[in-house]
Amino acid sequence: MEKCIFCKIVKGEIPSYKVYEDELVLAFLDITPANDGHTLIIPKLHRENIFDIKKEELERVALVAKRVAEKCKEALGEGECNIIHSTGKSAGQEVMHFHMHVVPRKESDGMNIWSGKNPKKPDFDKIARKLKIN
Ligand code: 5GP
Ligand code: ZN
Repeated sequence: MEKCIFCKIVKGEIPSYKVYEDELVLAFLDITPANDGHTLIIPKLHRENIFDIKKEELERVALVAKRVAEKCKEALGEGECNIIHSTGKSAGQEVMHFHMHVVPRKESDGMNIWSGKNPKKPDFDKIARKLKIN
């Protein structure tokens, strides 16, 4: 993916503040952090979203997100965080290379990631039946 900004970061064509790297994934600081320590974890190969990413890559991304969260707790004293992934434009995905955000949180930061929550109750029965995984 020649134009993908995260592929360029993987190749070293544009700079980034890397905090972890192995053969499958890379973790680096978000350039517009919501809070200090806001980190992105990505597969090194271009995968667009949750449907594209291989199971092994997703497992590694999730494990590295845990390690990043632990490091934020240890090094920054931020023991609370959001771990966020968005698939698709309507979900807020802006960079179309799979990524997971680790955002350290504290009570005074004023962020509200659930501000768009719908107060109306849906038909839970119907939805749960549709989503049942066998
Ligand atoms: P999304 O909205 O797609 O979930 O998040 C994309 C994230 O990538 C944003 O938080 C944005 O700040 C970050 N980002 C976009 N371009 C760059 C870049 O060139 N370098 C880094 N380090 N982060 C970027
Ligand atoms: Zn890419």
